[in-house]
Amino acid sequence: MTTTAPSLLSVRDLTMTFRGRRARSAPVRAVDGVSFDVAAGETLGLVGESGCGKSTTGRMIVRLLEPTTGSVSYDGRDISHLSQRELKPLRRDLQMVFQDPHSSLNPRQTVARIISDPLLVQGSSAADARKRAVELMELVGLIPEHIDRYPHEFSGGQAQRIGIARALATAPRLVVADEPVSALDVSVQAQIVNLMERLQRELGLAYLFIAHDLSVVKRVCDRVAVMYLGRIVEIGPKERVYAAPAHPYTRALLSAVPLPDPAAERARERITLLGDPPSPAAPPPGCTFHPRCPKAREICRTEAPPLRIAVPGDARQVACHFPEGPEER
Ligand code: SF4
Repeated sequence: MTTTAPSLLSVRDLTMTFRGRRARSAPVRAVDGVSFDVAAGETLGLVGESGCGKSTTGRMIVRLLEPTTGSVSYDGRDISHLSQRELKPLRRDLQMVFQDPHSSLNPRQTVARIISDPLLVQGSSAADARKRAVELMELVGLIPEHIDRYPHEFSGGQAQRIGIARALATAPRLVVADEPVSALDVSVQAQIVNLMERLQRELGLAYLFIAHDLSVVKRVCDRVAVMYLGRIVEIGPKERVYAAPAHPYTRALLSAVPLPDPAAERARERITLLGDPPSPAAPPPGCTFHPRCPKAREICRTEAPPLRIAVPGDARQVACHFPEGPEER
């Protein structure tokens, strides 16, 4: 993948195969050869429909799941198969924010305990951890006097601020944010996005921002990677991908994003995909997008297109035999 800064995170040929519970059920390749980099201080958006493998990818990066094959390197070190003991010091640097703030917070723990927990695990004293929890509550816009309250006493947006404070407790360099605003009301989403942007500026964080909402991703990301059925089909600078999507799937996704200008919204062409996404347990041969692709030709049914630079000099990579080029736009 092409980035201008050295990589903080490098993911190479990452796969995750889930075995079915029953002996005869087919294995499911949820992630199928995913590669990308994230530089220090950068935000990479990982987008795609539900079930495309983006959350599984995020969970492998923070090692909530162990990859089936492939590698995850953090700061130049392969962490894909480290033991939990070996991972412990790295947990300071790599943290995760979850989609549903309330279900990701222990309802029986106070906010003080929730935010302090990562610090206690890393060996901080209880007094130091509580002091830091107070600082973190202020940092994320919570009232420190509420430190001894329980999660159910907070709104969804406040609960997500608690989740973010917990993620920041150990001063990480990379945060994997898995649909961090999709469970929140639209007005609250903007507040949490503002908060995450401010924290990135102040703390120099890198984000892997996983989302299905392309409007949110456009706002927060420097680069964007589009996933379909476990694979990245397009990756590149946000401006390039949003202005001139080269993969038919990216074009279809972007054509469904509402435009703020009503006249532009009426005038623009919606691309309707054929059928539903296939099951990852039985992916189509060749290009897995071919049964739904309006541009599919014979070769698409038999040969999987590699992810490659489609236009010389372009930083963007596309997995398509017939990517949209400048001459077609
Ligand atoms: Fe469509 Fe073929 Fe490109 Fe796949 S390779 S996205 S089927 S044109």
